[in-house]
Amino acid sequence: MRILVTGGAGFLGSHLVDRLLAEGHEVIAMDNLLTGSTDNIAHLAGNRRFQFIYHNVTNYIYIKDDLDAILHFASPASPVDYLELPIQTLKVGSLGTHNALGLALAKGARFLLASTSEVYGDPLVHPQTEDYWGHVNPIGPRGVYDEAKRFAEAMTMAYHRTHGVDTRIVRIFNTYGPRMRLNDGRVVPNFIKQALRGEPLTVYGDGSQTRSFCFVSDLIDGIYRLLMSNEVEPVNIGNPAEISILEFAQRINELTGNQAGIRFEPLPKDDPKQRQPDITKARRILGWEPKVPLEQGLAETIDWFRTRLDRP
Ligand code: NAD
Ligand code: UDP
Repeated sequence: MRILVTGGAGFLGSHLVDRLLAEGHEVIAMDNLLTGSTDNIAHLAGNRRFQFIYHNVTNYIYIKDDLDAILHFASPASPVDYLELPIQTLKVGSLGTHNALGLALAKGARFLLASTSEVYGDPLVHPQTEDYWGHVNPIGPRGVYDEAKRFAEAMTMAYHRTHGVDTRIVRIFNTYGPRMRLNDGRVVPNFIKQALRGEPLTVYGDGSQTRSFCFVSDLIDGIYRLLMSNEVEPVNIGNPAEISILEFAQRINELTGNQAGIRFEPLPKDDPKQRQPDITKARRILGWEPKVPLEQGLAETIDWFRTRLDRP
């Protein structure tokens, strides 16, 4: 297949590009480097089945070649990023998704949307199943991301129903691993960076809020299976092993031997209190479940960050 990955120079997009190339596909990564970096795809220079196009997908997308699939991953994803870039986030989720769907229609290509557990907001149903409609504050600071993704899902289903585009929607839960940006503000890079520098870990609130962390290789495998499946309705992909942020901080201090402890800071507005994917559907229709335990994934991620820490 010839596959376009928007956001292909980002954390997840670049891992996806690697997997697609390993499966023998031709890949075009499109990115405007808003939150991504060519460092993530530098190892692909010279690969004849790979090309990179610098482009903002909020603007009309032109691709000369035929395409078999479009994987739409472009969007700031870290709360710090999307709070700094609220309008770009809304535009890439709305206009960018519309452009990518229009291209899929024109090329007769399959379309896969990178959606998020944030469509469930601060969830009142736990763990979250795909049929839960969510609990989102549209006018809160996180609304720019949550509502953009909810709009993107609605637009994807409209293109499916109206134009018959062959669509997929993956609802991605917190994912971590090598190539996360050291300063993207998400909890994994923040804690690892602080631990490796011997600083206290900044736990927001009392740390009783929970998340469920999936290692990147597991996530990419789930997404690839979804792409190759026939499932049009959203599918949760994430690791159901739920942990409080306080316990997560303690684990990272143990794994790194950091003696500096924990520092409590205010909880950001609308921070979801709990999050855990129900992956019954992914297990049933994709035969997928995560394999990498937290300790193993964190050890790999810590090693990677160690090599990056002293770079400018
Ligand atoms: P990331 O910031 O590393 O990657 C996003 C990429 O999109 C970056 O390379 C950025 O430069 C690019 N981009 C942003 N706006 C663009 C635009 N207008 N035109 C072209 N490129 C643009 O983030 P990530 O963690 O890799 O997330 C990738 C996708 O997965 C996002 O859509 C995000 O919403 C979704 N997601 C990620 C997670 C996670 O835990 N990492 C969870 C849920 C959903
Ligand atoms: N968090 C924290 N300290 C940090 C960064 C994040 O305690 O230095 C918390 C944050 O408040 C949230 C959780 O960790 O409860 C996960 O935050 P992240 O930004 O990684 O992603 P989210 O799941 O909120 O989108």
